[in-house]
Amino acid sequence: MNTPHTPREKTKVKYFNKLEQISELKSDERQTLNKVVDTFVFRTNDYYQSLINWDDPNDPIKRLIIPDAKELNDKGQLDASNEHAYTVAKGLEYKYDSTVIMLVNETCGAYCRFCFRKRLFMDDNDEVTKNISEALDYIRTHPEISNVLLTGGDPMVMSTSKLEPLVRQVREIDHVRIIRIGTKMPAFNPYRIIDDPSLLEMIKKYTTPTKKIYVVAHFNHPVEITDAAIQAINLLQKAGAIMVHQTPLIDGVNDDPLVLNELLNEMSFLGVTPYYVFQCRPTAGNRTFSVPLERAFEIFEMARVKCSGLAKRARFAMSHETGKIEVVGLTPNQIYFKYHRSAQNGNSGKFMAFKRNPDAYWFDDYIETQNTIDFPLSALNVQEWVDWGLMDKS
Ligand code: SF4
Repeated sequence: MNTPHTPREKTKVKYFNKLEQISELKSDERQTLNKVVDTFVFRTNDYYQSLINWDDPNDPIKRLIIPDAKELNDKGQLDASNEHAYTVAKGLEYKYDSTVIMLVNETCGAYCRFCFRKRLFMDDNDEVTKNISEALDYIRTHPEISNVLLTGGDPMVMSTSKLEPLVRQVREIDHVRIIRIGTKMPAFNPYRIIDDPSLLEMIKKYTTPTKKIYVVAHFNHPVEITDAAIQAINLLQKAGAIMVHQTPLIDGVNDDPLVLNELLNEMSFLGVTPYYVFQCRPTAGNRTFSVPLERAFEIFEMARVKCSGLAKRARFAMSHETGKIEVVGLTPNQIYFKYHRSAQNGNSGKFMAFKRNPDAYWFDDYIETQNTIDFPLSALNVQEWVDWGLMDKS
């Protein structure tokens, strides 16, 4: 048993960035998939690989991390939400009044195949900078900025000795009240957290009674919630981090109401507040992972039927170029959206009714606006809820 005087041995997690290192793949499969990897890079690690059940052809973790030949079918945009347009300083995006995004690195613990920032992992991308002085100057001169989101890539891939100065310098800006760290490391490699007391010390130091550190944890499937992941979450919470959860809704990963229900519930049980379920962005290579928007909303609503109030706090939204657009309802003929966050203040809270389009994948696929509201106010298919065992027949 470990005591404070005998620290546990570190768990060495080995990273792979070549399909040749994945012995479970057949050689012809590797050959096909290497063409995908030439365009969209591959990275995983032995911990995350151990979550795959290779006997299951539809394994969700495999779907999440192993390339799919269909990624090459779609020539979508690399920057589907036009993040570039909101870049105000090197590595700094400013879209909403109170909040800026700092891109602090260009690596993750593994690469989700459906990543909306895959452009950052490409050789010719230079959006991320190690020199954050320009970004810090910008934040200092904008007192309305109360929230700074550190993301990338994944800030927790960085060593604490590199991450700490970033957090410290942001914390030194008095009007910044919340520092958010967006990370998938509790899922991809929880040992990054478990084995680094200095990371936890850093959280403890820079989260204060009136200025918090939020960790925005990215979990996509309940299989990722291992004992090690739970330990990592608990350590971050004990260090004082407030934890929230987000996930995109992904074909073959969590587009099943029961899976999504379990994910949201489990997160709430762990004290990780469900925050957003996102529509998959129409980023290049992502169509195969996307679920049509109206179907995705139905899955989200079904998943929430058996959630407690705490587990159903997530919103279903699109990170659109013009703002965060929440899907709020469906009728037989119409779909309703509301700007949850808007890049232009005039749109804030704006409610919109459109003619339904079952083939839509994104807000831009809706053309015909409708000024009157349809009745009845819901077209969710109650029979389907019964079929999924989410509701009794009576
Ligand atoms: S964790 Fe986020 S940034 Fe990293 S690969 Fe996955 S989706 Fe992309």
